[in-house]
Amino acid sequence: MTETMIPFCDEAGCSAAGCTATICTGAGLPSNTAMFARSQAAIPGGVNSSIRAFRSVGGEPYVVARAEGATITDVEGTTYYDLVQSYGAVILGHAHPAVTAAVTAAAADGTSYGAPTPREMKLAEAISERVPSCERVRLMNSGTEATSTAIRLARGVTGRDRIVTFAGNFHGATDALLVAGGSGIATLGLPGTAGVPSAAVAETMVAPYNVVPTLTDEVAAVIVEPVAANMGVVAPAPGFLDGLRAECDRVGALLIFDEVITGFRLSPGGAQEKYDLAPDITCFGKVIGGGLPIGSIGGRADVMEHLSPLGPVFHAGTLSGNPLATAAGLAALSELTPDVYIELLARARHLAALLRDACASAGFAASFPVVGTLVGMVCGEEAANPVQNFDDAKTTDEAAFGAFFRAMLAEGVAMAPGAYEAIFVGVAHTDDVIDRIAEAAERAARRAVAELAG
Ligand SMILES: *Cc1c(COP(=O)(O)O)cnc(C)c1O
Repeated sequence: MTETMIPFCDEAGCSAAGCTATICTGAGLPSNTAMFARSQAAIPGGVNSSIRAFRSVGGEPYVVARAEGATITDVEGTTYYDLVQSYGAVILGHAHPAVTAAVTAAAADGTSYGAPTPREMKLAEAISERVPSCERVRLMNSGTEATSTAIRLARGVTGRDRIVTFAGNFHGATDALLVAGGSGIATLGLPGTAGVPSAAVAETMVAPYNVVPTLTDEVAAVIVEPVAANMGVVAPAPGFLDGLRAECDRVGALLIFDEVITGFRLSPGGAQEKYDLAPDITCFGKVIGGGLPIGSIGGRADVMEHLSPLGPVFHAGTLSGNPLATAAGLAALSELTPDVYIELLARARHLAALLRDACASAGFAASFPVVGTLVGMVCGEEAANPVQNFDDAKTTDEAAFGAFFRAMLAEGVAMAPGAYEAIFVGVAHTDDVIDRIAEAAERAARRAVAELAG
């Protein structure tokens, strides 16, 4: 899909004829290539989050100038239907008028104070109202900060050090959770990246997803994505989450749900509402910031009150409870009425069905698992179906995904550039948008088949 070109530039005193962009060079449109090359000289790899560099799918990233609703437009003026939606953070679609108005109004009152504010109070209340296990809520600046704070809190509450996590779950760039998972059995973790000392993960145990591990009384907490959405989209097996709850209770460990993706996306109360289960601590991010930087943890009052200044577990943040992020989050949550979730459920199923048909008719082997409002994609004849854990997830054909991804981009649809990312359906993906995406997918699947054959 190509629409009106939107010039982008960053020089003062632009004099390009007809340029109406707020940012414009007057030197004509820069290419994605030129812009990205310039970024690479200033920023390692040209990106501020490594997946954006397209390393696993090949090709070169589009450099975004602006976005609106279900579409995103690069600096060359090409517009794509966007299935990334900031990895789910902008569930209302880009530049939603309610969010834009709330942020604009808030900015005029000052952008950060270092003191309590009414908006942070209201956002904490809004989270507690929708997620009853969160009797108290602390706001911070990212999902990563939420998971690292949740781990510190659980260790402080229990006086224990051991953490259990699941292979294929992702909890942000938190040292203790950046572990290389063992295969099939529960193992003590090894550092999953350079820069994480073995000491940081010495107390982290990695277990296979969807099997309840047997815990000991050394365990401070089990942290889990209640629906795994970073190894494709994987549903919790019947009994898995309840089993974790019971096993944690048996040994006095805390259960932490990482709902950074599922929170306010699967339902008003997230995965814990859908599966009717109360964790001790929940981590949030993404949706609750309406597209601005945010993270939060919530939990039972007696657990949360171990946080400073009430308790001994330190937490602080210069920008925590930020006026703009809380304004955007409140605006987003107030748009997310129960009806919206019913609509999103239907759209997720509809999109997945159309994508399935599109790939089938092109002879491109792929499945599109749906869990509530989340859609995943698994490629290849040989891939596990259904995927239940990380070993299964890794049976996806990454080369086939890469071919499909590049073909989709060429057909005007931007997916997240990784074979293990979710497809994010949101409020802006109307039936018409979904139909167009499905049409593009059929052409893309044919292209991918041809590329893979040649
Ligand atoms: C995105 C994500 C995080 C990290 O959040 P950031 O805001 O990127 O730090 C943590 N957990 C899950 C499940 C996520 O998807």
